[in-house]
Amino acid sequence: MDYAIIADAYEKIEATTKRLEMTDLLFDLLKKTPKDVLARVVYLTQGKLYPDFTGIEMGVAEKSAIKALARASGQSESVISGGLQKSGDIGQTAQAILSKRKQSTFFSRTLTVEQVYETLDKLAKTSGSGAVDTKMALLCGLLTDASPKEAKWLIRTVTGNLRLGIADMTVLDALAIAYGGGKEARELVERAYNISSDLGRVANVVAEKGIEGIKKFQVMVFEPIRPMLAERLASPEEILEKLGGKCIAEYKYDGERIQAHKKDGKVILFSRRLENISSQYPDAVDLIKEKISAKEVILEAECVAMDLETGDMRPFQELMHRRRKYGIEEAIGNYPISLFPFDLLYADGKDLTLQPLPLRREELAKIVKKTDRVTPAIQKVVNSPKKLEDFFEEAIAEGCEGLMCKAIGDESCYQAGSRGWLWIKYKRDYKSEMTDTADLVVVGAFHGRGKRAGTYGALLLATYNKEQDTFETVTKCGTGFTDKDLQTLYDTLGKHVIPRKNSRFVSTLEADVWFEPSLVLEILGAEITLSPIHTCAMNSIRKGSGLAIRFPRFTGKYRTDKAPEDATSSIEIVEMYRGQLKKISEKQTA
Ligand code: ATP
Repeated sequence: MDYAIIADAYEKIEATTKRLEMTDLLFDLLKKTPKDVLARVVYLTQGKLYPDFTGIEMGVAEKSAIKALARASGQSESVISGGLQKSGDIGQTAQAILSKRKQSTFFSRTLTVEQVYETLDKLAKTSGSGAVDTKMALLCGLLTDASPKEAKWLIRTVTGNLRLGIADMTVLDALAIAYGGGKEARELVERAYNISSDLGRVANVVAEKGIEGIKKFQVMVFEPIRPMLAERLASPEEILEKLGGKCIAEYKYDGERIQAHKKDGKVILFSRRLENISSQYPDAVDLIKEKISAKEVILEAECVAMDLETGDMRPFQELMHRRRKYGIEEAIGNYPISLFPFDLLYADGKDLTLQPLPLRREELAKIVKKTDRVTPAIQKVVNSPKKLEDFFEEAIAEGCEGLMCKAIGDESCYQAGSRGWLWIKYKRDYKSEMTDTADLVVVGAFHGRGKRAGTYGALLLATYNKEQDTFETVTKCGTGFTDKDLQTLYDTLGKHVIPRKNSRFVSTLEADVWFEPSLVLEILGAEITLSPIHTCAMNSIRKGSGLAIRFPRFTGKYRTDKAPEDATSSIEIVEMYRGQLKKISEKQTA
């Protein structure tokens, strides 16, 4: 398959901001793609070579890309840097520079997708001494054969600047239409993705085996399952009503969610955003090896910082000390952890994701060799508000955040990748009218003045609109940041500055600086109000109004365990707004 086909499709996709149009264009591309390269094309459209959880990245720095360009074009590095300074876009610069290339080197060979992928794969896997030079030589080889337009997209791909805005869900839409026989396949294709996190594998199966193949799609050890998420409610009465009068109430531990995979004596731990975090928790890896009796397993646990002497749980923030490359042995000693497994998704050949929760928990109990360091999450079946409230108090007294209330009927399967009413969180009531904190994506910032000159004065924060795959602004926050936070934010966000507003941002405000969606912060507000300025859940409560969080304050929690798409959704803010109205009217009648 000629790489030019991909480059042409990218050009068209780049020119649209409408998701439907994007899906159509992607459908055209996937339909044109021979089945044996489909997975590779799917990864490439995401700017990747493999699914995220493999951690394999191309990692070509701008400097190396400039060097490769210089060599392939015969232009000097300073001319290229000058061009880049002006355009602010390395892809455009590459295109402009190569357009001026002398005729003799023009189109030596036609670039194919296979050749591009293979070369990029080599480039990604090159490491050790001399890696920079080898990578540059490989890239230079591709650029020599590339047309200016192809070079634009190649350079953007290798430097991590593809930014086509094609979300996973858009790829699933296009795959369902192209190979699944239409919209009906959409749900099944999404489930396959939710239990594998691998768009390439899903693409292969649906293209080769059609809808029947997708129906038989199974979980696989070492392929992370997208986590099931909980809704929230503010009273035991509402929770029980939602869950049919009876539920499992479980301690809600305040730690880091871990999905542990084990097979053939090997263990991989995935974070909530499905990154391999095994190296941060070698002690947890050992606990899974020793204390879980099943040979092959996928289970979920909360990993909690502990005081091993007293057996007390320590705050979530202590786990931050584990996010490091070096000195992990020391951090293990200073910040020990315990595991509280709460779900079992696969064990010794059995995919349990479609089984009801009580059965999954029964199976979990059978394979955990209980110790101080590994204990299945404490739980109780409750059927009255009083019992639920008492158990909640007990959980808080033990140092938990509250309870996770879970459905126990036949329908209580593991809903991978979705937030639903089968699980409901019940947390300590905050003093504000808001029933919970929100995890918001930083989309923009405003320059600081006075004491904050040289850093950002306030951040523009957004919720995620799952249906539209957009980010909608919900508040502007300048409170709760320490001086250290301000510096950290400036440095971290600086790496994600983009020249103009991302096409997935819905904002009436003009920020001084825009960022690609990357960082998620936990924010506590006083209340949620209707707003003519913010676009979160626009028109859903009142025409012409969105929702805004008033008096927002950063809690100090950097939610690095969340991807932008895992941020609080616009619908959740609507629910929180409704919950708040209810609370206010209850107060008034009391
Ligand atoms: P969410 O994960 O729902 O987007 P969040 O990350 O802000 O939100 P919380 O509101 O604290 O998290 O609640 C959900 C998290 O609670 C889960 O992702 C999991 O890490 C944690 N948790 C603790 N105990 C349990 C339990 N017994 N069952 C399920 N999850 C639990």
